[in-house]
Amino acid sequence: MSEQSPVLPYAKAASTAYDAALEVIASVEPRIAEATRQELADQRGSLKLIASENYASPAVLLTMGTWFSDKYAEGTVGHRFYAACQNVDTVEALAAEHARELFGAPYAYAQPHSGIDANLVAFWSILAHRVETPALEKLGAKSVNDLTEQDWETLRHELGNQRLLGMSLDAGGHLTHGFRPNISGKMFHQRQYGTDPETGLLDYDRVAELAREFKPMVLVAGYSAYPRRVNFAKMREIADEVGATLMVDMAHFAGLVAGKVFTGDEDPVPHAHVTTSTTHKSLRGPRGGLVLAQEEFAADVDRGCPMVLGGPLSHVMAAKAVAFAEARRPEFAEYAQRIADNAKSLAEGFLTRGATLVTGGTDNHLVLLDVRSFGLTGRQAESALLEAGVVTNRNSVPQDPNGAWYTTGVRLGTPALTTRGFGSSEFDTVAELIVDVLSHTTAGTTKAGAPSKATFVLADGVAERTHARIDEMLARNPLYPGLELT
Ligand SMILES: *Cc1c(COP(=O)(O)O)cnc(C)c1O
Repeated sequence: MSEQSPVLPYAKAASTAYDAALEVIASVEPRIAEATRQELADQRGSLKLIASENYASPAVLLTMGTWFSDKYAEGTVGHRFYAACQNVDTVEALAAEHARELFGAPYAYAQPHSGIDANLVAFWSILAHRVETPALEKLGAKSVNDLTEQDWETLRHELGNQRLLGMSLDAGGHLTHGFRPNISGKMFHQRQYGTDPETGLLDYDRVAELAREFKPMVLVAGYSAYPRRVNFAKMREIADEVGATLMVDMAHFAGLVAGKVFTGDEDPVPHAHVTTSTTHKSLRGPRGGLVLAQEEFAADVDRGCPMVLGGPLSHVMAAKAVAFAEARRPEFAEYAQRIADNAKSLAEGFLTRGATLVTGGTDNHLVLLDVRSFGLTGRQAESALLEAGVVTNRNSVPQDPNGAWYTTGVRLGTPALTTRGFGSSEFDTVAELIVDVLSHTTAGTTKAGAPSKATFVLADGVAERTHARIDEMLARNPLYPGLELT
């Protein structure tokens, strides 16, 4: 409910700020001001169940709209390739300090522009630490500047012949975890681990077996669509046994780590050599990335910019510092716990109504609904739900018979609606509405009369009655309560 909202205390000031900003923008390009207003109205009016999205506070959002955007600051705090970076230094140092405190990490790098960029920085730091430095020593060179043409060939060969083991996309892993067509699947020799075909759960013995066989230099853990917690202590044991570096990508669930819902073996930070994240998903900060690392990798992560990244987005780093400060408050831990409790209610709501969930439930922030029992593809289910006002995204399920485009699943997450104040009873209603819509949707046919994987028919009246129920719930849980644009 609204008393949980991080917005109310300064809703009036935020309203004034946005009114003024929109007036200034409209004086140059009114269509952008109008689209910005419309985006707020659309977000307020939609039931957002996209597991990777959230609503950042006005404090976080307003921090991004300043003159820090105009500054170049390649390098690190106190060591910049540009002059006059003293205020950027303040911002970056604070973002890193808050991140270290929040996650209990020895070292934090707040520069990555996105989650994928954070992973590229992590890959680079691991290659530099594990391959480049020893290779240079072997060649008797202090730096790459000392290399001959022949030495460069040798170095390129060593850097480009490394092995990476990560979770497959259809089991819930991310493109950057070694998916063949992605850069990670091209710059590394890759092998992928999946989940148990019966239970849908991670099989640590199988991961260990694969690791012993393949001997990866990098073992990647973490996911975008796996509805369960991961035992990172076990992943570290597997990495140690085969001499791999453990990289954990907590992009999706960083909020649950920050809020101490995932602790002990489920907290990746003490177990991973390098941990990467986004800052805009369950962590509820600005759109961006983050790398945390053990001390031994710090110097190589610090070279992320300009070796991998372009100039830091100082305005976004400032917003990261604000978001991390918010996440260090006790209210954020309560929010994180509600994310997990609400996901449980959502899953229960589906199960009691006879729907099928991958792994049979959830213990994190997301639910993966297998829509086969409704006779639909993920694409048809996603489109029918959208027509009824429910915003989700289609997603592969393990061994997906429909491939990565049409898919067989729908992924639903609780972070965004939990920010709006939704609780268990609202999430039970969400499950009820989704089951109702999908039960009244049938697969369509192509123009030639063949079964279609894309078109669908939603029974008359279902979209209207669903919209009415949704509008009622959204009105009771307003987004940015008290924020009024004139
Ligand atoms: C979302 C996500 C990313 C990518 O984040 P971007 O900010 O979109 O680049 C990387 N890894 C995982 C596991 C993710 O879920």
